[in-house]
Amino acid sequence: MSFTKEDIISLPNPSLRSRSKRVGPINAEIKQVVENMISATLSWDESREHEVGVALAAIQIDQAYRIVVIRNDFNNKEDKTFKVFINPEITKYEGDQVEDFEGCLSVPDIYGKVRRFDKVRIKAMDIDGEIIKVTADGFLARVFQHEIDHLNGLVFIDHIKTNPEAFYHLETDGKLKAIDYESIKDDPILW
Ligand SMILES: [Zn+2]
Repeated sequence: MSFTKEDIISLPNPSLRSRSKRVGPINAEIKQVVENMISATLSWDESREHEVGVALAAIQIDQAYRIVVIRNDFNNKEDKTFKVFINPEITKYEGDQVEDFEGCLSVPDIYGKVRRFDKVRIKAMDIDGEIIKVTADGFLARVFQHEIDHLNGLVFIDHIKTNPEAFYHLETDGKLKAIDYESIKDDPILW
């Protein structure tokens, strides 16, 4: 049975605020987790008209491993290929911190304006256990910071919790509309 969008956990599931463990040998179990992550992301992607499933951390299918998959082409829903990053670490933050919108498969329909570094250097293992190093900037840098946060039990809204201006809702027409902060600041589903 392939994993689907139904296997993606969302807030307030406490797993999303827990720390994932390092991957040891890349065995059959780990390869299966990766396969499940990709099929769940693609299933979610097919169900969303105005969004692209750009990345997923293993904890989002309730598997507490330090694994992230990131789509090769963020702008093309037809490209269903991903790169796998095992035990990814940010080795250097560079550039300015910039504020931009981000969303999360585990926080349906809520978007936020989050400050992130514009450039990061990443060290990880690929699916064959080879060390890979990536310098990411712009949106890719944002994606890495968002996903590595998941491995440490952080969700993007945790960065903007006290910012009344930062929260947006994805409307059915695909537009983002500011959310009344008072309506969510104490919402037990989110915090
Ligand atoms: Zn996320």
